Amino acid sequence: MLLTITSTATPATDLGHLLRKHPGRTHSFDLSFGKAHVFYPEATDERCTAALLLDVDPVGLVRNRRGPAGEGRSLEQYVNDRPYVSSSFLSVAIAEVLGSALAGKSKDRQELVDTPLPLAATLSVLPCRGGEAFLRRLFEPLGYTVSARGFPLDEKFGDWGESSYFRVTLKAEMTVRRLLTHLYVLIPVLDNDKHYWVGDDEIEKLLKHGEGWLLDHPEREIITTRYLKHQRSLINDALSRLVVEESADPDHTQEEHSKEEAQVEEKISLNELRLGAVVAALKNSGAKTVLDLGCGEGRLSQTLLKDRQFERIVGMDVSYRALEIAQDRLKLDRMPAQQKERIRLIHGSLMYRDKRLKDFDAAAVVEVVEHLDQPRLAAFERVLFECAKPRTIVLTTPNAEYNVKWESLPAGKFRHKDHRFEWTRAEFQSWAKGIAEKWGYGVRFLPVGPEDALVGSPTQMAVFTTLA
Ligand code: SAH
Repeated sequence: MLLTITSTATPATDLGHLLRKHPGRTHSFDLSFGKAHVFYPEATDERCTAALLLDVDPVGLVRNRRGPAGEGRSLEQYVNDRPYVSSSFLSVAIAEVLGSALAGKSKDRQELVDTPLPLAATLSVLPCRGGEAFLRRLFEPLGYTVSARGFPLDEKFGDWGESSYFRVTLKAEMTVRRLLTHLYVLIPVLDNDKHYWVGDDEIEKLLKHGEGWLLDHPEREIITTRYLKHQRSLINDALSRLVVEESADPDHTQEEHSKEEAQVEEKISLNELRLGAVVAALKNSGAKTVLDLGCGEGRLSQTLLKDRQFERIVGMDVSYRALEIAQDRLKLDRMPAQQKERIRLIHGSLMYRDKRLKDFDAAAVVEVVEHLDQPRLAAFERVLFECAKPRTIVLTTPNAEYNVKWESLPAGKFRHKDHRFEWTRAEFQSWAKGIAEKWGYGVRFLPVGPEDALVGSPTQMAVFTTLA
């Protein structure tokens, strides 16, 4: 199985940066189903082609009957009784070998990652159930020029007709990340089979990689149906959650920007004050089970864990990287079993209804709303206030009025580059009162940090409590 990606941007060798694979070398990887190799048949300033070659080991597959490594955190789930079908291996290989490119992350060249380039992807043999017409219906709405050449079932017996295999080239002006997410989702859809067990995790993957395009795709139903292998309950779940689109890539730059925000706010250790205020509000509510939504690196969860009042704590974040850091901070793998039972970190987005968020006494949403696009706040509201509906919700956000007091913050700038907005006290209170009224909560407001007579406190906090 061979996938090639060609860039004709200048300098075309930037493709090496984008894929994080140097064009001068061959890169080989052991995967659970065989080997993957990345190499560059051509690499000049004008034209650069990267090839991903899969060498699936049929004997090995049978010998160790298990799902591919890395496909989800708990491999046990992927005990595999499915027939092995070639093409979804390519998706797994894309995720494993080109993971950073698929996530669209770059420490130093984010601009390049976000720039659409003239690209062509060729798949040497693509199983395509539904024929060329279906292939076009999948890729053309996404902006690709599609060329496909079919293979006869058997070259010697022309009258046997065409096979369902095609050599396919897709051309578009596209970011490499977008191209990879399209391939990741649509190759198994074309093949209409997957070699690993499809569970709830698959919905997360579909929504994550479908971000920004699946919602508007005219074939989204069939894509979802085939991707989830026709499992009705999963399909309905995924389709209903597609109501809202996922927010921009969670991991990128989050880490660095958080550091900057910490510097700006450092002088009075606002972080500590905020944590204290949130924990106090949660304690006062009498909550035993708490959600830490947008838990980031897990500071709040860590503090809650020290207090025996909190029997069950679940931290959720859309950034997998943040969760990894949280896991280290909490020393989850070395935690005594009894302690460990009280805490879980889950990957998910506040943009989707999520049944894992039900049945909690309280939720904390600390410095998260300002990271959400304002038009999407309505989705967040429904996820939390309508579906999860904990008795108490403690929510904090910066007070924009206070920004004039930060010496290191240039006028008109937000505290954190990822902030989509920062609210004045009046704006925050009017938003919070509106949702409280809509969803049957009472709300009170508390300042966090030193209060200035004119501009108020640096952080504003709302505590919502259900009226019923
Ligand atoms: N609550 C933490 C982190 C705040 S930073 C603290 O106070 O330290 C904001 C966090 O919100 C980031 O970790 C970011 O990944 C997360 N986030 C942004 N959009 C999100 C979404 N749609 N769903 C869940 N988390 C999200």
